[in-house]
Amino acid sequence: MLIRNAMRSQEEGVDHKELAVDLSEYETYHDVIPDRNDGVNAWIAVMRGCDNFCSFCVVPYTRGRERSRDPEGIVQEARRIAEQGFKQITLLGQNVNSYRFDDWDFARLITAVADVPGIERVRFTSPHPKDFPLSLLEAVVSHPNICKQIHLPLQSGSDRMLGLMNRTYTNKEYRVLVDRIRTLRSDIVLSTDIICGFCGESDAEFAETYRLVEETRFHSAFIFKYSERKNTIAARKFSDDVSEPVKTERVTRLFDLQRGISYERNREYLKTTVPVLVEGDAKRSAAQGMGKIGWQHHRHLGQVRSTLSTGRHGFPCHLRCVLHDVVCGTSAGEIESLVPAPLPQESFLSSTLQKRTLPNKICLGILQSLAAHKK
Ligand code: SF4
Repeated sequence: MLIRNAMRSQEEGVDHKELAVDLSEYETYHDVIPDRNDGVNAWIAVMRGCDNFCSFCVVPYTRGRERSRDPEGIVQEARRIAEQGFKQITLLGQNVNSYRFDDWDFARLITAVADVPGIERVRFTSPHPKDFPLSLLEAVVSHPNICKQIHLPLQSGSDRMLGLMNRTYTNKEYRVLVDRIRTLRSDIVLSTDIICGFCGESDAEFAETYRLVEETRFHSAFIFKYSERKNTIAARKFSDDVSEPVKTERVTRLFDLQRGISYERNREYLKTTVPVLVEGDAKRSAAQGMGKIGWQHHRHLGQVRSTLSTGRHGFPCHLRCVLHDVVCGTSAGEIESLVPAPLPQESFLSSTLQKRTLPNKICLGILQSLAAHKK
């Protein structure tokens, strides 16, 4: 907790003297076992720090230089997590695809974690587009337990902006990587991060980002206004000179574009049957549950959000659902019917859905029969 608070303090630039815990720039904290609440997903930090020094980012200064954890410790942690009943692991690092420990790379590590008995889904975040090795792509594409979803932060479609951001790839190189990924697996789900209004971004430069988003058709995107962070290279060297109204207008336009694309992506899966991993109570109502959609016949379901009218039950459990309707651009849907499903050895996505039409008693019956089936 002290470490978590200290990290938060550093990230937020808050001067909490009572939380003065210095994080080492060299330690990987491999033997610090994190607190975990019961649930479906457990996070494992596989590396600390970052060497990339993107000009807008404070991480290299707060978390120190990049260092990878011992893979044996990570796999042991994954086994412990599986014994505790977690079904999904998300491997976490600032730049996971530069993970290195002796002769282990990230492709080998994620495969070893995905092979841990009891772990049904493995995700990871975030890779950097500058060095996405083929071995990692092949692991994602071919391993049944690794989610067919890649978060690939773009930040900008303008080469000049990418240069100022120190992202070390170009618009063209990013597009080539997307093509390579989709050639290996056409139905892979891609999401991204984009910054609007970075220092000196012109209308024409923003238009390049807009065009790339339009043409790439991500399944979802996290779109931000540029906000200067103290002590970063950008804060020291560049002027945060795009006005607030212009940043807002660009974010809004891009968000509207992405919302439409996500909606179309989600509609591709109407009437299809999908496995859902029920995770727990929905945020809006404890009388409902929330689950994540996965793969069916090797098809993805994008970022569809589903809240199942399941009531309180022992989570996690798997159900099979027919998607009835997609009601919103990035994150909504309804479920028409539910049938218990065996735990499938299929890959899953981070999609969550919304269920509003199914009567509680049907869901309850299904869940009870599933529980009986499991006994
Ligand atoms: S944005 Fe990501 S890759 Fe760039 S410096 Fe920050 S943590 Fe590293």
